[in-house]
Amino acid sequence: LVRLRSRLSRSQNSLGKGLLSLLSREHLDEDTWEEIEETLLTADVGVAPTQELVERLRTRVKVLGTRTPDELRGLLREELVELVGKDADRTVRSTKHEEGPAVVLVVGVNGVGKTTTTGKLARVLVADGRKVVLGAADTFRAAAADQLQTWGERVGARTVRGPEGGDPASIAFDAVKEGIAEGVDTVLIDTAGRLHTKTGLMDELGKVKRVVEKHGPVDEVLLVLDATTGQNGLIQARVFAEVVDITGIVLTKLDGTAKGGIVVAVQRELGVPVKLIGLGEGADDLAPFEPGAFVDALIG
Ligand code: GDP
Repeated sequence: LVRLRSRLSRSQNSLGKGLLSLLSREHLDEDTWEEIEETLLTADVGVAPTQELVERLRTRVKVLGTRTPDELRGLLREELVELVGKDADRTVRSTKHEEGPAVVLVVGVNGVGKTTTTGKLARVLVADGRKVVLGAADTFRAAAADQLQTWGERVGARTVRGPEGGDPASIAFDAVKEGIAEGVDTVLIDTAGRLHTKTGLMDELGKVKRVVEKHGPVDEVLLVLDATTGQNGLIQARVFAEVVDITGIVLTKLDGTAKGGIVVAVQRELGVPVKLIGLGEGADDLAPFEPGAFVDALIG
């Protein structure tokens, strides 16, 4: 938790603190409630969730009457955890099954942190005793395969790659084939995120998925979104969700933004939980998303 708190940017940290200090005002007048609303909107929580939260807070504060700082903190914590969704299943399905290794597709537009996330996830899984194969199916960005292979060498996972500009689906197919032959637990496939045309993306991602499914089911499709892009990230999320069934969201670069409210907005938008968060560029900077710990880090 201490690490999480220090990694969430200071400005983000102040979202929770700011809300708490507003709520602690002696007189909670209309202006104060408006300020609370603005604070939430500025953090990209989104209009509907913000209104719902403010409504609930208002009702509960009224019922509470005089409020001690501890009561207020508890109330805000409870409501924020509720807002973030405390009961969602956030496990990344990475356990081998009858059909073979678990297959995880990592998707998202270029630059959001797909390759880095794939590498970090491989590291977590290998540290947990799993055998992992990486598939470098991002053949669009020239350096992506090298970057992934470097991660693979560092953590002890084999990387399957093809020629530059090669067919992503055929690399994904080969990676899963290799994973089956080697009897590994998990195959992680890094894909390309060209978003210039939706049809192009649809063709490519759809094909990757279909081809992989010749071997067996795809267990996870993780959509990687850059938290610093705010509402833009939501638009991307929508496009990807139309193309492929997303099973989990990875929100990267939470260390560099005050807009952590995007966690709430994107889950609402897709109806899919945030499973992992990126808190920096280092190998250890990928964490499971845990609503309670996240909210505690926000409130400080
Ligand atoms: P891709 O094009 O989606 O594969 O993106 P990359 O994995 O190459 O990442 C793009 C940049 O974002 C790199 O410089 C990464 O080090 C950086 N990055 C990825 N995740 C995080 C994160 O959680 N926090 C920060 N600060 N940077 C990140």
